[in-house]
Amino acid sequence: MNSAHKFAVDKMLGRLAKWLRLLGYDTFYKNKIKPVTLLSIAQSENRIIVTKNRYFLKHPFPVPILFLNTDTLEKQLLEIDDKYPLQKNKAFSRCPLCNNATTPVEKENIKKLVPEYVFRTHECFHQCIHCGKIYWRGTHPQRALAFLEKIGLKM
Ligand SMILES: [Zn+2]
Repeated sequence: MNSAHKFAVDKMLGRLAKWLRLLGYDTFYKNKIKPVTLLSIAQSENRIIVTKNRYFLKHPFPVPILFLNTDTLEKQLLEIDDKYPLQKNKAFSRCPLCNNATTPVEKENIKKLVPEYVFRTHECFHQCIHCGKIYWRGTHPQRALAFLEKIGLKM
């Protein structure tokens, strides 16, 4: 049940947070947050803290802390995968912007909301239930898949 892991990603790791969400993981992220606040959110929501802040090395904390030793997105994803093997079967089921679930939408309903070319060339659309952002199996997911393959996270 690895996909059940929930993460709380520290403020300096915004890109990583988006990627965890792309993979379908429930990931808390705010770009302005104090360590103590992150800690209390992780504790009350049962999340694993992912951080590069040495503050989290200094004390024993009541939540799991994954301190990252690497600096690139690729290596950081592999570090997480090493400790908490990442499942890819939920990929693209979560909005990378706001962390809420996406749901399939009728193509006709979103006609005015996507570029005409995209509307003509795609059949399957998903929409975030919270922020309304629309996703399709277009350029972004393909780039994402290629990236995941490149770093050895097989789909
Ligand atoms: Zn959203």
